[in-house]
Amino acid sequence: MDEEDKLSVLYASDKFKVSYGEFIRFLDGVKMSTTCPHCGTSDSWTVFTGSAIGKDQEFLTAYKMPIAGTTYYRLCFSMSCENCGTFRSIYANRVVEWVKENPELPQ
Ligand SMILES: [Zn+2]
Repeated sequence: MDEEDKLSVLYASDKFKVSYGEFIRFLDGVKMSTTCPHCGTSDSWTVFTGSAIGKDQEFLTAYKMPIAGTTYYRLCFSMSCENCGTFRSIYANRVVEWVKENPELPQ
């Protein structure tokens, strides 16, 4: 498996099931800026949840980014700026990895 293949995946929906709450913990945990790089507004992002058939709004929508010339793709979660619509894609593998490394502590 070459380096490109290590970064791509064949989709397994259970492996990429991340809840809205886990994603917010990730954004806070990695200290991701909430200032939009294009319009400069802050704190007004929509995180996309659910699937095309409208189920399970608690979990993030996973998007496939096909890799040209292969049957592989990369997965991302997405959010958009409420003001200008800038679409931000977050590499799903990193989110899943971070959530595993940083389990929610009991209250
Ligand atoms: Zn914006």
